[in-house]
Amino acid sequence: MVDGMEAFPEKVRVVDLWAWGEPFLNKNLIEMIKYLRQVNVCDEIRACTNGSFLNPEMNRKLVDSGLTMLRVSLDAMNDKDYKDICGVEVSFDSMVENIRDLYECSRGKMMLSIKSVDTAMRNEGDVEKFYDIFSDISDYCFIEDIIDAFPGYDGFEKPDNKDVKFRKWNSYHDRANYVCAKPLVQMAVHSNGEVSACCNDWSFQLSYGSIKEKTLPELWNSKELRKIQLMQVEKPRSEIPYCKICPCESDDDIDDVANIIADRLRDN
Ligand code: SF4
Repeated sequence: MVDGMEAFPEKVRVVDLWAWGEPFLNKNLIEMIKYLRQVNVCDEIRACTNGSFLNPEMNRKLVDSGLTMLRVSLDAMNDKDYKDICGVEVSFDSMVENIRDLYECSRGKMMLSIKSVDTAMRNEGDVEKFYDIFSDISDYCFIEDIIDAFPGYDGFEKPDNKDVKFRKWNSYHDRANYVCAKPLVQMAVHSNGEVSACCNDWSFQLSYGSIKEKTLPELWNSKELRKIQLMQVEKPRSEIPYCKICPCESDDDIDDVANIIADRLRDN
Protein backbone atom coordinates (compact mmCIF):
# COMPACT_ATOMS: atom_id res chain seq x y z
CA MET A 1 0.00 0.00 0.00
CA VAL A 2 2.84 2.36 0.85
CA ASP A 3 4.42 1.64 -2.57
CA GLY A 4 1.07 2.53 -4.14
CA MET A 5 0.87 5.78 -2.22
CA GLU A 6 4.41 6.68 -3.30
CA ALA A 7 3.37 6.19 -6.93
CA PHE A 8 0.71 8.94 -6.85
CA PRO A 9 1.93 12.12 -8.57
CA GLU A 10 0.97 14.14 -5.47
CA LYS A 11 1.35 13.28 -1.83
CA VAL A 12 -1.71 11.64 -0.26
CA ARG A 13 -3.41 14.21 1.94
CA VAL A 14 -4.54 12.00 4.86
CA VAL A 15 -4.18 8.36 5.87
CA ASP A 16 -6.85 7.53 8.43
CA LEU A 17 -6.06 4.28 10.22
CA TRP A 18 -9.61 3.37 10.98
CA ALA A 19 -12.60 1.72 9.35
CA TRP A 20 -15.19 -0.12 11.41
CA GLY A 21 -13.46 -1.32 14.54
CA GLU A 22 -11.16 -0.20 17.33
CA PRO A 23 -7.71 0.46 15.79
CA PHE A 24 -5.96 0.08 19.16
CA LEU A 25 -6.77 -3.63 19.13
CA ASN A 26 -4.09 -3.84 16.46
CA LYS A 27 -0.86 -4.43 18.36
CA ASN A 28 1.15 -3.05 15.43
CA LEU A 29 -0.67 0.27 15.32
CA ILE A 30 2.17 2.38 16.75
CA GLU A 31 4.71 0.72 14.42
CA MET A 32 2.42 1.30 11.44
CA ILE A 33 2.13 5.00 12.27
CA LYS A 34 5.90 5.31 12.74
CA TYR A 35 6.53 3.61 9.39
CA LEU A 36 4.06 5.87 7.59
CA ARG A 37 5.77 8.91 9.09
CA GLN A 38 9.21 7.57 8.17
CA VAL A 39 8.37 6.91 4.51
CA ASN A 40 6.66 10.31 4.31
CA VAL A 41 3.91 9.30 1.86
CA CYS A 42 1.13 11.46 3.32
CA ASP A 43 0.66 14.88 4.86
CA GLU A 44 -1.38 13.67 7.83
CA ILE A 45 -1.86 10.43 9.75
CA ARG A 46 -5.05 10.13 11.76
CA ALA A 47 -6.72 7.47 13.88
CA CYS A 48 -9.92 7.07 15.83
CA THR A 49 -10.55 5.31 19.14
CA ASN A 50 -13.13 4.68 21.81
CA GLY A 51 -10.52 5.94 24.30
CA SER A 52 -10.32 2.81 26.42
CA PHE A 53 -6.69 2.10 25.45
CA LEU A 54 -5.40 5.53 26.43
CA ASN A 55 -3.08 5.73 29.43
CA PRO A 56 0.05 7.80 30.19
CA GLU A 57 2.39 5.27 28.56
CA MET A 58 0.29 4.79 25.42
CA ASN A 59 -0.28 8.56 25.18
CA ARG A 60 3.44 9.25 24.93
CA LYS A 61 3.96 6.47 22.40
CA LEU A 62 1.20 7.97 20.28
CA VAL A 63 2.55 11.49 20.45
CA ASP A 64 6.07 10.28 19.55
CA SER A 65 4.82 8.04 16.72
CA GLY A 66 4.06 10.89 14.31
CA LEU A 67 0.27 10.69 14.49
CA THR A 68 -1.14 14.10 13.56
CA MET A 69 -4.69 13.72 14.88
CA LEU A 70 -6.52 11.37 17.22
CA ARG A 71 -10.31 11.38 17.32
CA VAL A 72 -11.82 9.98 20.51
CA SER A 73 -15.43 8.86 20.28
CA LEU A 74 -17.25 8.68 23.64
CA ASP A 75 -20.38 6.57 24.05
CA ALA A 76 -21.61 7.76 27.46
CA MET A 77 -21.04 10.40 30.10
CA ASN A 78 -20.76 8.22 33.23
CA ASP A 79 -19.92 4.65 34.29
CA LYS A 80 -23.53 3.52 34.55
CA ASP A 81 -24.46 4.69 31.06
CA TYR A 82 -21.36 2.99 29.63
CA LYS A 83 -22.63 -0.24 31.18
CA ASP A 84 -26.18 0.36 29.91
CA ILE A 85 -25.26 1.50 26.40
CA CYS A 86 -22.09 -0.48 25.64
CA GLY A 87 -22.39 -3.36 28.10
CA VAL A 88 -18.86 -2.78 29.44
CA GLU A 89 -17.30 -1.49 32.66
CA VAL A 90 -15.67 1.86 31.98
CA SER A 91 -14.40 4.35 34.52
CA PHE A 92 -15.49 7.63 32.99
CA ASP A 93 -13.31 9.66 35.39
CA SER A 94 -10.21 7.64 34.45
CA MET A 95 -11.04 8.11 30.78
CA VAL A 96 -11.21 11.87 31.29
CA GLU A 97 -7.88 11.90 33.14
CA ASN A 98 -6.22 9.91 30.38
CA ILE A 99 -7.62 12.28 27.76
CA ARG A 100 -6.41 15.26 29.83
CA ASP A 101 -2.94 13.71 30.01
CA LEU A 102 -2.91 13.11 26.26
CA TYR A 103 -3.99 16.68 25.57
CA GLU A 104 -1.22 18.06 27.77
CA CYS A 105 1.58 15.89 26.39
CA SER A 106 0.51 16.32 22.75
CA ARG A 107 0.60 20.12 22.54
CA GLY A 108 2.36 21.33 19.40
CA LYS A 109 2.63 17.77 18.08
CA MET A 110 -0.82 16.22 17.63
CA MET A 111 -4.43 17.42 17.41
CA LEU A 112 -7.03 15.88 19.70
CA SER A 113 -10.71 15.76 18.81
CA ILE A 114 -13.42 14.54 21.23
CA LYS A 115 -16.81 13.50 19.92
CA SER A 116 -19.95 12.05 21.38
CA VAL A 117 -23.45 11.43 20.05
CA ASP A 118 -26.95 12.62 20.91
CA THR A 119 -28.01 9.18 22.19
CA ALA A 120 -25.18 9.27 24.78
CA MET A 121 -26.68 12.44 26.28
CA ARG A 122 -29.38 11.46 28.77
CA ASN A 123 -30.30 15.05 29.64
CA GLU A 124 -29.21 18.67 29.27
CA GLY A 125 -26.88 18.14 32.25
CA ASP A 126 -24.86 15.61 30.23
CA VAL A 127 -24.53 18.12 27.42
CA GLU A 128 -23.21 20.76 29.80
CA LYS A 129 -20.89 18.23 31.41
CA PHE A 130 -19.50 17.22 28.00
CA TYR A 131 -18.58 20.76 27.01
CA ASP A 132 -17.43 21.73 30.53
CA ILE A 133 -14.96 18.87 30.62
CA PHE A 134 -13.75 18.61 27.06
CA SER A 135 -13.69 22.20 25.77
CA ASP A 136 -10.47 22.85 27.68
CA ILE A 137 -8.73 19.55 26.96
CA SER A 138 -9.29 19.12 23.21
CA ASP A 139 -8.67 20.94 19.96
CA TYR A 140 -12.22 20.16 18.81
CA CYS A 141 -15.19 18.78 20.72
CA PHE A 142 -18.68 18.25 19.43
CA ILE A 143 -21.86 16.15 19.72
CA GLU A 144 -23.22 14.55 16.57
CA ASP A 145 -26.59 13.06 15.72
CA ILE A 146 -26.29 9.31 15.54
CA ILE A 147 -26.96 7.89 12.07
CA ASP A 148 -27.18 4.47 10.50
CA ALA A 149 -23.61 4.17 9.24
CA PHE A 150 -24.22 0.57 8.08
CA PRO A 151 -27.26 0.89 5.83
CA GLY A 152 -28.96 -2.44 5.21
CA TYR A 153 -27.12 -4.31 7.98
CA ASP A 154 -29.50 -6.11 10.34
CA GLY A 155 -27.03 -8.12 12.46
CA PHE A 156 -27.84 -6.13 15.61
CA GLU A 157 -30.61 -3.95 16.88
CA LYS A 158 -29.88 -0.39 15.92
CA PRO A 159 -30.57 2.42 18.38
CA ASP A 160 -33.23 4.86 17.35
CA ASN A 161 -32.59 8.53 17.89
CA LYS A 162 -35.92 9.87 16.74
CA ASP A 163 -37.01 10.63 20.31
CA VAL A 164 -33.79 12.35 21.27
CA LYS A 165 -34.67 15.91 22.19
CA PHE A 166 -31.23 17.47 21.87
CA ARG A 167 -31.15 18.02 18.15
CA LYS A 168 -29.55 21.42 18.03
CA TRP A 169 -26.26 19.95 16.81
CA ASN A 170 -27.94 18.40 13.84
CA SER A 171 -25.62 18.81 10.90
CA TYR A 172 -27.72 16.91 8.36
CA HIS A 173 -28.54 18.45 5.05
CA ASP A 174 -32.25 18.95 4.51
CA ARG A 175 -32.03 17.89 0.91
CA ALA A 176 -32.87 14.26 0.28
CA ASN A 177 -30.76 13.80 -2.82
CA TYR A 178 -27.66 15.86 -2.39
CA VAL A 179 -24.53 14.59 -4.08
CA CYS A 180 -22.16 12.54 -1.94
CA ALA A 181 -18.53 13.57 -2.44
CA LYS A 182 -17.01 10.58 -0.66
CA PRO A 183 -16.19 8.51 -3.80
CA LEU A 184 -14.47 11.59 -5.25
CA VAL A 185 -12.13 12.13 -2.33
CA GLN A 186 -11.51 8.88 -0.48
CA MET A 187 -10.47 5.27 -0.99
CA ALA A 188 -11.55 2.84 1.74
CA VAL A 189 -8.88 0.11 1.85
CA HIS A 190 -10.00 -2.80 4.00
CA SER A 191 -7.95 -5.41 5.86
CA ASN A 192 -8.89 -8.06 3.28
CA GLY A 193 -7.47 -5.86 0.48
CA GLU A 194 -10.84 -4.77 -0.94
CA VAL A 195 -11.02 -1.13 -1.96
CA SER A 196 -14.37 0.58 -1.82
CA ALA A 197 -15.68 4.00 -2.81
CA CYS A 198 -16.57 4.90 0.75
CA CYS A 199 -16.05 3.85 4.35
CA ASN A 200 -19.78 3.21 4.92
CA ASP A 201 -19.94 0.44 2.33
CA TRP A 202 -19.86 -2.49 4.78
CA SER A 203 -21.15 -5.00 2.19
CA PHE A 204 -18.64 -3.96 -0.51
CA GLN A 205 -21.34 -3.01 -2.98
CA LEU A 206 -19.22 -0.02 -4.03
CA SER A 207 -16.03 -2.06 -4.19
CA TYR A 208 -13.90 -1.56 -7.31
CA GLY A 209 -11.00 -3.93 -6.82
CA SER A 210 -8.32 -5.14 -4.46
CA ILE A 211 -4.83 -3.98 -3.60
CA LYS A 212 -3.85 -7.65 -3.92
CA GLU A 213 -4.35 -7.32 -7.67
CA LYS A 214 -3.78 -3.65 -8.53
CA THR A 215 -1.82 -0.70 -7.18
CA LEU A 216 -3.59 2.19 -5.50
CA PRO A 217 -3.04 4.55 -8.49
CA GLU A 218 -4.38 1.86 -10.88
CA LEU A 219 -7.47 1.52 -8.72
CA TRP A 220 -7.92 5.29 -8.35
CA ASN A 221 -7.74 5.71 -12.15
CA SER A 222 -9.82 2.62 -12.93
CA LYS A 223 -12.91 2.68 -15.13
CA GLU A 224 -14.78 0.89 -12.33
CA LEU A 225 -14.27 3.80 -9.92
CA ARG A 226 -14.95 6.36 -12.65
CA LYS A 227 -18.34 4.69 -13.22
CA ILE A 228 -19.20 4.96 -9.49
CA GLN A 229 -18.06 8.59 -9.36
CA LEU A 230 -20.04 9.53 -12.46
CA MET A 231 -23.13 7.83 -11.06
CA GLN A 232 -22.84 9.99 -7.92
CA VAL A 233 -22.66 13.29 -9.78
CA GLU A 234 -25.15 12.46 -12.52
CA LYS A 235 -28.01 10.74 -10.69
CA PRO A 236 -30.18 11.61 -7.71
CA ARG A 237 -29.18 9.53 -4.70
CA SER A 238 -32.52 7.75 -4.74
CA GLU A 239 -31.49 6.08 -8.02
CA ILE A 240 -28.02 4.93 -6.97
CA PRO A 241 -27.76 1.32 -5.82
CA TYR A 242 -26.83 1.05 -2.12
CA CYS A 243 -26.41 4.85 -1.75
CA LYS A 244 -30.19 5.19 -1.96
CA ILE A 245 -30.52 3.64 1.52
CA CYS A 246 -27.58 5.55 3.01
CA PRO A 247 -28.45 8.44 5.34
CA CYS A 248 -24.88 9.72 5.59
CA GLU A 249 -24.12 13.27 4.74
CA SER A 250 -21.48 14.31 2.25
CA ASP A 251 -18.15 15.58 3.55
CA ASP A 252 -18.41 18.46 1.07
CA ASP A 253 -21.36 20.25 -0.48
CA ILE A 254 -20.76 19.85 -4.22
CA ASP A 255 -24.35 20.03 -5.52
CA ASP A 256 -23.76 23.30 -7.36
CA VAL A 257 -20.67 22.04 -9.17
CA ALA A 258 -21.79 18.45 -9.84
CA ASN A 259 -22.23 19.15 -13.57
CA ILE A 260 -18.75 20.57 -13.89
CA ILE A 261 -17.27 17.58 -12.05
CA ALA A 262 -19.26 15.20 -14.28
CA ASP A 263 -17.82 16.85 -17.43
CA ARG A 264 -14.30 16.52 -16.07
CA LEU A 265 -14.79 12.88 -15.15
CA ARG A 266 -16.14 12.09 -18.63
CA ASP A 267 -13.09 13.78 -20.23
CA ASN A 268 -10.71 11.91 -17.96
S1 SF4 B 1 -24.11 7.98 -0.26
FE1 SF4 B 1 -23.44 6.73 1.50
S2 SF4 B 1 -22.94 4.73 0.63
FE2 SF4 B 1 -23.02 6.18 -1.06
S3 SF4 B 1 -20.91 6.89 -1.34
FE3 SF4 B 1 -21.92 8.36 0.03
S4 SF4 B 1 -21.50 7.65 2.12
FE4 SF4 B 1 -21.06 5.96 0.72
